[in-house]
Amino acid sequence: MHLIIHIAFGLFLLGIFNNPLVLFLAIFIGHFLLDSIPHYKPLKRIFIETIIDILLSIIFIFFYLVFGTGHSSVWIFSGAIFFAILPDMFLLIDWLWKVKIIKPFMLDFHRKIQHEYQWGWIIELGLLFYLLFFLF
Ligand SMILES: [Zn+2]
Repeated sequence: MHLIIHIAFGLFLLGIFNNPLVLFLAIFIGHFLLDSIPHYKPLKRIFIETIIDILLSIIFIFFYLVFGTGHSSVWIFSGAIFFAILPDMFLLIDWLWKVKIIKPFMLDFHRKIQHEYQWGWIIELGLLFYLLFFLF
């Protein structure tokens, strides 16, 4: 699933949980739950698509900071984003540099739960609009 959805979901949970430990744990587990929902399967894993996803995520974070509903400390806000994308960062590091900084079975688990389909963008778009409703 695209990073922007994971970040939007993390910011959505930011508005629900007050305890940072519970929040970060919920966001981290939520990442895997989101990945298990059917989502977009790229035709080919290409670098440019990842870069576009990262750029859109940065723009999204900027808009959230300016127009969003949530107000929290910089550390909690940054932590929410960090834990929302952390599992994908492990995959990205493994994909780009072939460096496994976590146990290989955890990478395999993350890859195994993915339910990717060509039509999955419809679900991702619906999910994003649903989350945007709560975030702005
Ligand atoms: Zn993931």
